[in-house]
Parts: sequence; C-alpha cells; structure tokens
Amino acid sequence: MYSENCVFCRDVIRDRKASIVYENDQVMAFMDIAPVEPGHVLVVPRDHYANIMDIDEPVYLEVHRVTRMISPAVVRAVGADAVNIGQNNGACANQRVFHYHVHIIPRFCSRELNWGRKTVEDEELEQMAVLIRNEIADRVGRIPELR
Ligand SMILES: [Zn+2]
Repeated sequence: MYSENCVFCRDVIRDRKASIVYENDQVMAFMDIAPVEPGHVLVVPRDHYANIMDIDEPVYLEVHRVTRMISPAVVRAVGADAVNIGQNNGACANQRVFHYHVHIIPRFCSRELNWGRKTVEDEELEQMAVLIRNEIADRVGRIPELR
C-alpha cells in the first residue's frame, strides 16, 4: 500500500530522502527532521496505514518490536537519561503525518521536559543517524540504565 500524497510513503520510503537508522522488509526507522531532542527517531511501517485504527496487527507488532529493539541504541548513541515512546492518532491528538509512526524521543535530566520542535541541518541528522546505526550494529552493547 502506497499513498502518493503521503510524505513518508513518497519521500522517505520510496525516495529515501531521510537519515535512515534501520530498515527491514516491513519497517523503516529514520531521524525526525524536526526533533524534540537530538536523536529523535521515527519508526514506520513500509506500507501506508493512517493510524492505529487501520494498521494490521502483525505490522503493528513489527513496528513496536523494532521500536523496542532500537530504543537502547538511541539512548546509548546520545547519552540520554530517559526516553519517551510516543504515538498520535488523529489530527486532534496532534497527528501531523497520517502514516502510522512511533516517536522515540531521548530525554535528559539536565533539560526541561518540553515538546517543542527544533530545526536542524541535514548534516546534523546524518551524523546522529551514523551514531545510532553504529549502536544498533553493536548488539552486545550494554543496556543503558535510565534515570
Ligand atoms: Zn504513507
């Protein structure tokens, strides 16, 4: 399933205009272009589902399996103290792109908890993606302790 009007289907999954940190036959994970914190990653199914109401269960489970698998890598890569896993469904729940996605947002005890988006250069996103890819590859890496 593909939607030409969907920025994730078209730009990320088809055209690969993203800093990709992980992918398999069902799922892609990439840097959010407007991160809440450095290391903010999105995990999406390759097929287009608008939200939790229409996503197929096996695909849903794979998206969340991958989210669980790469979260420790994201936390290690940026030296985070904590992590938010977020998922919005519907415009009134603050969903902006109507292709199912999960946010992995690293958090730092030294910073105020906020949900504001930042503008960052593509180069910075790619550097962060390299750090996260390296941590994903390091499967014997320690499981980070959260504060
Ligand atoms: Zn889509």
